[in-house]
Amino acid sequence: MTLRPHHLLCIGKFTGHGYDSAFTNHMTEIVSLLRSGEDVKVTLVRGVDDLCDKCPNRRGSLCSSQDKVTYLDAAVLDALCIPAGTYDWAELTEGVRERIYGRGSFDLICESCEWFPLCCKTETNY
Ligand code: SF4
Ligand code: SF4
Repeated sequence: MTLRPHHLLCIGKFTGHGYDSAFTNHMTEIVSLLRSGEDVKVTLVRGVDDLCDKCPNRRGSLCSSQDKVTYLDAAVLDALCIPAGTYDWAELTEGVRERIYGRGSFDLICESCEWFPLCCKTETNY
């Protein structure tokens, strides 16, 4: 599975909300697999990923909010101190818990996102 780095956070905060029904149904499938406890390999990419596939904001190889998502992806990789590449899902969620939530960095990374008011009051669920 490919994921943009900031989607590690979005997946943890997902409660069934999304841009439209095609996107939300697709994201529900991905999140269900990742929350199932199955050993999933995730390749972090600096570009469109498997979640973007069904997103109405996708513009070819870009996002309609390209500057925002480029910033978010870089901020998450910086916080995790890892490069783009392939990891175990469990390894990534452990890193997010320790290096982002454990250090209080979630608000700093996400506060400019339009979904922040919803995400900041949602329990993280991996
Ligand atoms: S605030 Fe935005 S970037 Fe952060 S987890 Fe929520 S949807 Fe994802
Ligand atoms: S296309 Fe943009 S808004 Fe849609 S899932 Fe991908 S990064 Fe998020």
